[in-house]
Amino acid sequence: MMQGMTRRAAVSGALAAAMASPAISQARRPAIAVVGGGFAGGAAARALAARGFDVTLVEPSAAYVACPLSNAVIGGLRSMSAQTFGYGGLRKAGIRLVTAAASAIDAEERQIRLETGDALSYDRLVLAPGIEARVDGALPGYAAGAEETMPHAWKAGPQTALLARQLAAMKEGGTVLMAIPANPYRCPPGPYERASLIAHFLERHNPRAKLILLDAKDAFSKRSLFQAAWAELYPGLIEWVPLSGGGKVTEVDVGAMSLVTEFGRHRGDVVNVIPPQRAAPIAVAAGVADRSGWCPIDPMTFESRLRPGIHVVGDAAIMGAIPKSAFAAHGEALAAAEAIAALAAGVAPPEPRLINTCYSLVAPDYGISVAGVYRPAANGLFADIAGAGGASAADAGRNARRAEAAYAEGWFRRITADVFG
Ligand code: FAD
Repeated sequence: MMQGMTRRAAVSGALAAAMASPAISQARRPAIAVVGGGFAGGAAARALAARGFDVTLVEPSAAYVACPLSNAVIGGLRSMSAQTFGYGGLRKAGIRLVTAAASAIDAEERQIRLETGDALSYDRLVLAPGIEARVDGALPGYAAGAEETMPHAWKAGPQTALLARQLAAMKEGGTVLMAIPANPYRCPPGPYERASLIAHFLERHNPRAKLILLDAKDAFSKRSLFQAAWAELYPGLIEWVPLSGGGKVTEVDVGAMSLVTEFGRHRGDVVNVIPPQRAAPIAVAAGVADRSGWCPIDPMTFESRLRPGIHVVGDAAIMGAIPKSAFAAHGEALAAAEAIAALAAGVAPPEPRLINTCYSLVAPDYGISVAGVYRPAANGLFADIAGAGGASAADAGRNARRAEAAYAEGWFRRITADVFG
């Protein structure tokens, strides 16, 4: 059994006392467990430790592999090591690391069961487990093991490296297929950034090859910017088939390297299937995911609407208009830490304003972005604040695009230093 922390009954008082009094003894610090050491969990752990909580981070991997800019790895422009971050910085910040997966959560008893069989008690829990890229036949034919032949690469790591290798090894003049899901999914512009950087790779290394995007949607984030850039940089290379043109993939035939749509069958030499997604399995096990597969939260506190005492941040949560991005996950984590501190001090949490900016690389020196600002709305979800955001100008020149590519790199350096540094 792992270190058991203060029992629940004693805790609410301890929480309030802890935050009200700066001279709290170490032994009485409220215990916060954070499950998931990605952008959301890592940021939450740091922010909570900085506020004086006793923080334990539960994460199965010894190192985190970041998705943002991982499309550049697939395009042969970046190394996996540039995407990989250890947890030493979090340890140095006073956070206790438990390198194991959480397998169950008892919200009543405020206890996490670990895959090792150990248990961990907490006063409050922050759940930040990210997504599950579904290989359970949610997309017929895309079942367990299919991702070894048709990688999704929607969680960075071995899948990213596999897709990069397949692309580099593809026969001359071959066809790359991408299956793109309906909303909601992690990183709305991500598939189109990936298509751009695959096109960049093909243009240089396999110029007779083709790239076909089979999409379950008719519209996508930054669509006009992407399409204008594709026409300029990769004329004739990318074919986008929208929902209304028969783009929705209804079945995957792994053996035949084919994607089936209502309108026919496409065979690829490299097939990247980005499948339907939902919150990672521990969210279901904890009882915080609803029938949609995602986790409803109170946007003032990020506390689960289904299980009190559990706050859900990052991609797993239902955030209304806020896209599932690392930028947003980081902000949600900081706001949740602020809310937890307010609750502990017995004061009303401040109403959060969250910001998101998603950069996409269309080429190594060609970036575009979209930004938004969000607040809780009457329907209990985050809503866009009209006029507060916007996308890159359609008529910006190449200098502006070059600058945005540099901003993307700068943003990545900053956020990974904030979370893991
Ligand atoms: P994750 O980063 O996935 O972290 C979840 C963590 O929880 C993982 O470390 C996992 O190991 C852990 N975990 C899961 N289950 C358990 C368990 N049972 N017990 C313990 N730990 C568990 N976002 C941007 O802002 N900008 C971009 O340019 C961008 N580009 C992207 C490109 C691609 C190709 C993709 C796929 C995504 C991109 N994103 C981008 C989105 C971004 O990666 C995610 O939104 C972000 O990672 C979400 O953070 P998270 O902490 O919620 O989840």
